[in-house]
Amino acid sequence: MTQPRQQFASDNYAGICPEAMAAIAQANSGSAPAYGEDVWTLAGANALRELFGTNCDVYFAFNGTAANSLALAALCQSYHSVICSGLAHVETDECGAPEFFSNGSKLMVAESPDGKLTPEAVRDLATSRSDIHFPKPRVVTITQPTESGLVYSVAEIEALSAICRELGLKLHMDGARFAHACAALQCDPADISWRAGVDVLCFGGTKNGMAVSEAVVFFDRDLAQDFDYRCKQAGQLASKMRFLAAPWSGVLESGAWLSNAAHGNRCAQRLAHAIADCTDLHLIFPVESNAVFVSAPQPVLDGIRERGWRFYTFIGNGARFMFAWDADPQQVDLLAADIRAAACQQGEAIPA
Ligand SMILES: *Cc1c(COP(=O)(O)O)cnc(C)c1O
Repeated sequence: MTQPRQQFASDNYAGICPEAMAAIAQANSGSAPAYGEDVWTLAGANALRELFGTNCDVYFAFNGTAANSLALAALCQSYHSVICSGLAHVETDECGAPEFFSNGSKLMVAESPDGKLTPEAVRDLATSRSDIHFPKPRVVTITQPTESGLVYSVAEIEALSAICRELGLKLHMDGARFAHACAALQCDPADISWRAGVDVLCFGGTKNGMAVSEAVVFFDRDLAQDFDYRCKQAGQLASKMRFLAAPWSGVLESGAWLSNAAHGNRCAQRLAHAIADCTDLHLIFPVESNAVFVSAPQPVLDGIRERGWRFYTFIGNGARFMFAWDADPQQVDLLAADIRAAACQQGEAIPA
């Protein structure tokens, strides 16, 4: 049995990238005003404004659940609803936090077999009822890339924002892996956010090489009213905010935010190619970002586990592998070899 040194069960297994770490060390010089009143926090927010080329409002939260939940709560009254995909992190992995922080705004799942919302699905759900007994649709939330690793094109986001405008809905983007979408599309970040009609983006830092930090970016600044109070009440106002903010300067100014993501995406392609010809396996979703979902008979999945690899199966019942900034291509090749071995062994008669 091989002894894997690196696991690809989650991109959160990775540590802190050098550029984020250096920025934390740099910000760790002497004392600085607390609660975000410091120069590092201003610099981090300015780096994001520069990246997007617009004067957005920026807040830093400890994690994605808080960022998403508070952003959605800021967009909703308690009687409103949020349209999402059935695979959406806000629906399946936030323990009801969006509903909790919005005092009850209901998440409503639209038809989306692969995790991607379509304008038709949004329209069908948003217009299915208009009476007072139904929670009033107020927001559409999309994940870019999706939990299934798919990337919305610029045109797809524009089409979704057009339907949002037509129906009077706000558009929220869960960008826990937003950098991976930018790397995949090789586009200007503005083109898949505010220029395409996104009102609020939760931009993930943690899955892009930071220790703890997610940026809540309000392109529609009116929607950020009192957001600072919302963050404080929810326990998301970091007293030493500089250490959540400085890594943003570090990764944005060095370009690491994009090279980290591109590396993760390339490793996903590497694995996908290495197992492409295995007949017992198939990819559940096309590999468009840093995730690979492998469907295989249960004995093959067991065989991969027996060879020491960890993975989750909560999406599509297959094995999910995620590649972060630190993924070692040689380890990816070892994983591929073990997946192939598990698949082949399954196909052969077991010797007596
Ligand atoms: C990881 C992730 C988040 C954030 O999760 P936390 O554990 O709360 O940081 C949000 N959305 C998606 C799609 C994610 O994959």
